[in-house]
Amino acid sequence: MPETVVKIENLVKRYKELIALDHFSLEIFDGEIFGLLGPNGSGKTTTINCLLSLLAFNKGSIEIFGEKMKPDNYNIKRQIGIIMQNVAVINELTVYENIDYFCGLYIRDKEQRKKCVQEAIEFVGLEDFAKFRPKKLSGGLLRRLNIACGIAHKPKLIILDEPTVAVDPQSRNKILEGIVELNRRGATVIYTSHYMEEVEQICTQIAIMDKGRQIAIGTKEELKKQIKDTEKITVEVMDISDEQLCMVRELPHIGEAVFQGGKLCVKYHGGKHNLIRLLTLLQEQEIKFGRVFSEEPTLNDVFLEITGKQLRDN
Ligand code: ADP
Ligand code: MG
Repeated sequence: MPETVVKIENLVKRYKELIALDHFSLEIFDGEIFGLLGPNGSGKTTTINCLLSLLAFNKGSIEIFGEKMKPDNYNIKRQIGIIMQNVAVINELTVYENIDYFCGLYIRDKEQRKKCVQEAIEFVGLEDFAKFRPKKLSGGLLRRLNIACGIAHKPKLIILDEPTVAVDPQSRNKILEGIVELNRRGATVIYTSHYMEEVEQICTQIAIMDKGRQIAIGTKEELKKQIKDTEKITVEVMDISDEQLCMVRELPHIGEAVFQGGKLCVKYHGGKHNLIRLLTLLQEQEIKFGRVFSEEPTLNDVFLEITGKQLRDN
């Protein structure tokens, strides 16, 4: 059994009347890339700020590496690397000096620090920009600098709060690959995002948040198993009569079948060979069909099933 790295129990955080965290609990084990997925305003950043003792909370408890987290627990703090949602670097310092500054908060030895800073620069791919000041960097490069500042001292627990918001695809991929690599080298990672695709791509455990509460937790496979609509098939058809649509609805495992805008959309509750059965029926009925799409459920479907609303902004 891996060790517990973070244990949050029944955390309550109020901003005046607003309950930002509502009895929120979480356990994160050593070696995980733990994804905190939730729409904007669900309480991700508030959770991170409480975790770091940057924000006082009303109720609950937080343990990190088996110790109670407190504002002056520097033994814990030095083992954490934090990459904030809002980029936090010093504009007057160059890329190298910024990383050196943040690394210097943890590592006094000059030689050791020099090595760490150089490694961090290479890790995020900023070799060509070491002498640049932050203002000269694009959004994506600035994010990478922010990450380098947070990881140079080789922390055991790395927390990244929405590190891919407003970055170009190239930097985004670099960041996601970097997170996986840091984890492979032994760090436990907490990664918050409202992009379900990214969370699915890299996280070994996922907690879904909404309105300050944890509404689901598990691996992506476990989360998807929780929802009834395990398969969605869409077929482009010219026309289908009401009678024929009823025949579709009588097929096994059908949850819902609708015809709209030249598309027949069918949702299934489990079952096997759903696609072949559907296409056979269409052929028998001499219904002409075009393209066929079969979709696995997404984490958005999980969110929709539990909350009744979309996780995506669109
Ligand atoms: P997320 O990071 O998931 O987008 P936040 O933790 O930033 O969510 O916010 C959770 C809720 O708390 C939101 O409704 C937000 O408006 C509110 N909130 C966050 N910070 C403050 C603050 N300093 N004062 C008042 N309300 C806040
Ligand atoms: Mg946030």
